[in-house]
Amino acid sequence: MTGIRLGVDVGGSATKWVLLDETGAMLDAGSTPTPRAGPAAVIELVAELAAQSKEPTAIGVAVPGLVDTASGATLFIPNVGGDWAGFPFTERLAARTSTPATVINDGRAFALAELRQGAAKGLSEALFVVVGTGIGGALAVGGRVLHNRRDNFGAIGHMTVRPNGDRCTCGNRGCLETVASARALATKTATAEQVAAAAAQGDPTSARRILRAGRELGLAISSTLAFLGFSTAVVGGGVAGALPQMLPAIVAELDDRTAMLGTCHVHPGALGPHAGAIGAALWTLEGP
Ligand SMILES: [Zn+2]
Repeated sequence: MTGIRLGVDVGGSATKWVLLDETGAMLDAGSTPTPRAGPAAVIELVAELAAQSKEPTAIGVAVPGLVDTASGATLFIPNVGGDWAGFPFTERLAARTSTPATVINDGRAFALAELRQGAAKGLSEALFVVVGTGIGGALAVGGRVLHNRRDNFGAIGHMTVRPNGDRCTCGNRGCLETVASARALATKTATAEQVAAAAAQGDPTSARRILRAGRELGLAISSTLAFLGFSTAVVGGGVAGALPQMLPAIVAELDDRTAMLGTCHVHPGALGPHAGAIGAALWTLEGP
């Protein structure tokens, strides 16, 4: 790795960033609210972060949606405000900052970070699931994170788990994302954070809500591991602090359903809330 890399993870509510040195070690990190005005405003934010950084030699940005990996244009980013369809993101960012730039789906960024530096370090194959405002996913095979033209390889969040369920941001009904994301955990009167906090304090209704989401997640992960013949899943993302409470239900579903695969492991992400930003920075080295 040559030079300092800026990695930025644009989330539905917060944008996280890291600076990595030549060895991939973190020099600095931070978080700021995501601008709601769309891609041009996000580019201004990234340019500000780059200006405050120590002249990064490359900038990697992770976004929660589809990108054209060949051109660096954004395609479909439903959880961030503004019109992202067909926006020439890396071209505009590189021009604005005079720095080479790449863009990657946030699920793949999480996977790359956890594969190189975190819970899946040294593994050849694993399924990655990142649960936030929505649910992202990715696969590693042969020690590399797989990606395709629309950067939606492994998008487990849009697997249908309830045929007649709620409408998803993607247009489908009953996607995993509609039953197990932070948005799905929220109620009419409480945010996902408040539901998680109430569950931690013993409120049975909130605890049941989180348990149900954990089971749905576990079911989808079990089915996907069976389909792939993999035995390791890494689950990360904030889920508004509810992930530790969801993990036992995920593990229980796996124990029930994956006997054919031998011992399966669900590892929580090891890199914490900046995993996506770390992966975005690493993608400037490994990306197209
Ligand atoms: Zn969907």
